[in-house]
Amino acid sequence: MRKKLIAGNWKMNGSAELVLEMCSALQPHLSSLQSEVLICPPFTLLRKLREAAAGTSIQIGAQNVHSQVSGAFTGEIAAPMLQDCGVSYCLVGHSERRSYFGETDALVRDKVAVLLQHAIQPVVCVGETLEQREQEQHEAAVAMQLRGAFSEIAPADQQRCIVAYEPVWAIGTGRTATPEQANEMHSFIRQEMHKLASPEIAQELPILYGGSANAQNAESLLAQPEIDGALVGGASLKPKDFLQILQAGG
Ligand code: PEP
Repeated sequence: MRKKLIAGNWKMNGSAELVLEMCSALQPHLSSLQSEVLICPPFTLLRKLREAAAGTSIQIGAQNVHSQVSGAFTGEIAAPMLQDCGVSYCLVGHSERRSYFGETDALVRDKVAVLLQHAIQPVVCVGETLEQREQEQHEAAVAMQLRGAFSEIAPADQQRCIVAYEPVWAIGTGRTATPEQANEMHSFIRQEMHKLASPEIAQELPILYGGSANAQNAESLLAQPEIDGALVGGASLKPKDFLQILQAGG
C-alpha cells in the first residue's frame, strides 16, 4: 500500500522565523499523522530547517538542482551540496521552472539522473497548460513529459522517483482540478509508467496532486484512490492550513 506524502513548496517565500513557526506548529501532531511530511523551502533555509526539524519526521526537500555536480555555473546549486544540507527529496520540472527558466524535458531527465546518483528522490512535476486541456491534449502533453523524464532512467532508479501531477492552470490560481479530474489523470500517469517502467513500478509509484490544494479541498482530493499525496504551494506557508492538509491525509 502506498503511503501518503504531503509536500510543501515554499517557492521564493519564507524566512528563518517561518521555519521555526512551522516546525513548532507541526511537531505536536507528527506522531499521530499517517502521512509523510516534506517541506521544500528556498535553498537559504535548508540548513535552518534541518536544525529545526532534527529528531522529527519532517523531511527536507529542495526546489531545484543543477544537472552538473560542480563547476563554473555561477549562482547554481549542485546535488552534493543538497546532500550536505540533509536534503532527501528535490522538485524537478516544476511548471514555473519550465516556463520562466526554459527547463526542457532533456534537462529534467539530467536533473533526475544527478539526484538519483546522490541518493535524493526526485519529485518530477508534470502537467498540462489550460490551452492543452481545452484542446484535449492534456494526456499527450503529460505523456511527453513523462517520457522525457524517465525514458533513459534504469528501472531500479525509476523506482525511487515520485511524480507530481500539477495542471498548470491550477497552480496559484485558486482553480483546483476536481477530485475526479485529478484521479483520472493520476490513473493515466500510472498507465503510462506501466509502459515506460514496469507494472510493478507503476503500481508502487507515489503520484501527488498539486494545484491550489488547500485546507478546504484536501480531504476530497486525498480520498481519491489514485492520489497518493499533495504538493502544496501557497497553503504550505500557513502553518495552520498546512497542518490541516496533513491531517486530511490521515
Ligand atoms: C506548486 O507550486 O507546486 C503549487 C501547487 O502551488 P499552489 O498550491 O499555490 O497552487
